[in-house]
Amino acid sequence: AAKRAGGQRYSFFSAQMTDGSRRRAQLVQALRGAASRGELHLAYQAQIESEDLRVSGFEALLRWHHPELGDISPVEFIPLAEGAGLMGELGAWVLQAACRDAAQWPAGLSVSVNVSALQLAEPDFLAQVQAAAALLPPGQLELEVTESALIDDADTAVAVLQQLRAQGHRTALDDFGTGYSALGYLRRFRFDTLKIDRSFVRDLSRDAGAQVLVDTILAMAQALGMRTVAEGVETEAEARRLIHRGCTSLQGFLISRPVPAQALPDFLQAWCRRGAASLRPSLSPPAPE
Ligand code: C2E
Ligand code: MG
Ligand code: MG
Ligand code: MG
Repeated sequence: AAKRAGGQRYSFFSAQMTDGSRRRAQLVQALRGAASRGELHLAYQAQIESEDLRVSGFEALLRWHHPELGDISPVEFIPLAEGAGLMGELGAWVLQAACRDAAQWPAGLSVSVNVSALQLAEPDFLAQVQAAAALLPPGQLELEVTESALIDDADTAVAVLQQLRAQGHRTALDDFGTGYSALGYLRRFRFDTLKIDRSFVRDLSRDAGAQVLVDTILAMAQALGMRTVAEGVETEAEARRLIHRGCTSLQGFLISRPVPAQALPDFLQAWCRRGAASLRPSLSPPAPE
């Protein structure tokens, strides 16, 4: 019986793998040309400043709606695009679309674009950025890279980051704290912005260890003169703590979910009228414990 159960488990498992690889192949196939078929769009998630709660910019997040399979998460399709050599094309589309959208926004709002490690290695990447950013006032484009961008070929990555800075763009280290040698990368390149990974923020309310780590990250970033963005802020308690500990900016569902470009004017208006009011009490010093 044990043998049969084992055998069944084995065949179940291999059937799953087949389904998984069939789906991956289908997605890769469909990804080619997804942009030209109009299946891609960008969603924008607000970042606010702790100081005055005003919206300072938006992060562009890629969305793919497959005609039969529905919405596919970037967590699933970005790695597939990378593996299939499609990331250069996809990333170029994102840069163009994000800068085209941001060119329509009220003055002073910046746009953050996620950049894959593989894009940094593309020979025409800097030219792509320069062309897209020409639509914007100087200094309004921020490029977000994760630590993985710096793992494979750190020398190239650092050289490209330095040139992005020389071109007047801002750089952010995304998902800080989830990689293996984040501190090593901070020694090699000084990012303008450090984005504290959502996993730390999520644990703030229940885990004293997460509190210590976040406080330490904030102190380090401050000492290095970096702006800090907390990712995945979902509750007022998290926002309050981050504001009081000196985190410069907040991003998360508490402020806004990622929304389509057409929804930004309404969001900005609603945020000015009501949204910020709910966080206003967080700006005053915490009551003694
Ligand atoms: P990321 O750049 O760290 O983006 C933040 C992710 O956290 C987004 O997921 C966002 O929707 C989600 N998020 C934001 N606030 C909250 C919150 O309060 N709670 C929770 N539970 N989640 C929150 P999304 O859009 O699914 O993107 C996932 C990842 O896919 C991104 O992580 C980024 O690494 C990658 N990605 C998305 N768009 C692009 C792109 O255009 N290019 C590249 N290379 N990667 C992208
Ligand atoms: Mg990001
Ligand atoms: Mg992140
Ligand atoms: Mg991420």
